[in-house]
Amino acid sequence: MNLTINEVESALISNDITQKMYINGEWTLSEGNQTRKIINPANSKVIGTVTEGTEVDAKKAITAARKAFYEDGWMNSRARDRAELLLQISNKLEERKEEFAYLDTLNNGKTLRESIADVEDAVNQLRYYAGLATKPHGQTYDVPDDIQAMVVREAIGVVGIIVPWNYPLVMANQKIAAALAAGCTVVVKPAQQTPLSLIRLFEIIDEVGFPSGVVNLVLGAGSKVGAELVANPDVDKISFTGGTDTGIRLMKSAADTVKNISLELGGKSPNIVFADAEFDVAVDYALYAIFANQGQVCSAGSRLLLEESLYDRFVPELVKRAKMIKVGPGWMDGIEMGPLVSEDHMNTVLDYIEIGKNEGATLLCGGNRIVEGEFGKGFFVEPTIFGNTKPDMRIVQEEIFGPVLVIQTFKTEEEAIELANGTDFGLAGAVFSQDGAKAQRVIRGLRAGITWINTYHPTFNEAPWGGYKQSGIGRDLGTYGFEEYLETKQINVNLKVEPSGFFEGK
Ligand code: NAD
Repeated sequence: MNLTINEVESALISNDITQKMYINGEWTLSEGNQTRKIINPANSKVIGTVTEGTEVDAKKAITAARKAFYEDGWMNSRARDRAELLLQISNKLEERKEEFAYLDTLNNGKTLRESIADVEDAVNQLRYYAGLATKPHGQTYDVPDDIQAMVVREAIGVVGIIVPWNYPLVMANQKIAAALAAGCTVVVKPAQQTPLSLIRLFEIIDEVGFPSGVVNLVLGAGSKVGAELVANPDVDKISFTGGTDTGIRLMKSAADTVKNISLELGGKSPNIVFADAEFDVAVDYALYAIFANQGQVCSAGSRLLLEESLYDRFVPELVKRAKMIKVGPGWMDGIEMGPLVSEDHMNTVLDYIEIGKNEGATLLCGGNRIVEGEFGKGFFVEPTIFGNTKPDMRIVQEEIFGPVLVIQTFKTEEEAIELANGTDFGLAGAVFSQDGAKAQRVIRGLRAGITWINTYHPTFNEAPWGGYKQSGIGRDLGTYGFEEYLETKQINVNLKVEPSGFFEGK
């Protein structure tokens, strides 16, 4: 299919039908009869209306997922059949790659080149986990008794998947693919702002023919639908990606049912540049680290840690190039940075810029909403850089989740590590240096789950994704991400079937 952005947009806008949830194999309107308008953040146009789910809808989806797993046989489904279904989804998604990319660009604001990369990633995730579905294997043990002791791996059961708006398709897709491959049933809740690409993914899921109740989609607010998923005793596991504050709330609620929960949370990741770094490479990646996806990336390099002797050469070049970034609607040719996802989120980011100025940091570039002409209808913020910061400033400690970079300086390797680890977060980090041993030493000093040397951002579905400290618990992606959806059962078989003799009387 070769659709243009106008065709996708007009198809969405002319479609005044309320888009539905997918529960127990049926497209469903919410019990509550409420709807939500979905907005294009580049121009504030309404691009769809979706049904607004409630706790009642979440309960229905959980009941369906539980029945599908425990009563209708999905827990004994064949791994090869599950793999085949995932491969079918991946092929259909690949055929409709452009359509899905346009949807994420229209709904989230990200540039088309980033949306296309996301869909390609999603296709690969489905194929990767289709491959892994048939690979779990147990162990046997040589124990000091006439017992055959072994371990088997089993699907954990009903999984509640809750995701944010910054990667609307790919975040949900990676969890759905891993959970289904492992043999779980799922109830998925997208972010309320960005449900469109996921609703379409469920069209494909519907086409390939899963048994009813295995894969469910519930739309709506986190405080209602999401909270129900976490609190409901019939959900066996929660896989969450989102902010740290929300993650803390979810963990407390999950404790009431001792629910298995994995959390992919926020970050304030350091990008450390030593004076001996390849200059052009380091400048280029410093920009990419923070301004990709408008800075709305959990692992963004939002703190640039510069060796002090490099400051006077590096910062003017960085600022010059930041000012050259082409901001505009994500679907237009040549655009390098789109709008923020919503008016609310834009206001949060602008508030942080004011906080930074009030704290005494020096605004080196940007700092404003872009309001000229057509831009005024969208939620565009200039690429923004602050210098002259102090470690205890809020703009240095807190996740802004927008196109705002703060610069810190260091003199020694030890100081670089101390500053890098000096927040509550521990998601990602990078080092730029031509001294390989030094770069490795510093990376080993970082308390963070995702790290790079002489690059920033490349990540792969094959490798585990997740954070230390308040950036989360557990891992997505790779074999580690698959393990999250598996239980471990010990089976002991008596090889000498006779009474134990523990009690004498007969
Ligand atoms: P958020 O925490 O506000 O929302 C995330 C999801 O949780 C949404 O679907 C929301 O509806 C739901 N939710 C909100 N309150 C809830 C509640 N009480 N119970 C259950 N669900 C609830 O986050 P956001 O603003 O959508 O996304 C941005 C955040 O996500 C940033 O902090 C970012 O760093 C983080 N993030 C982390 C990763 C990672 O892999 N570590 C990836 C992407 C985004």
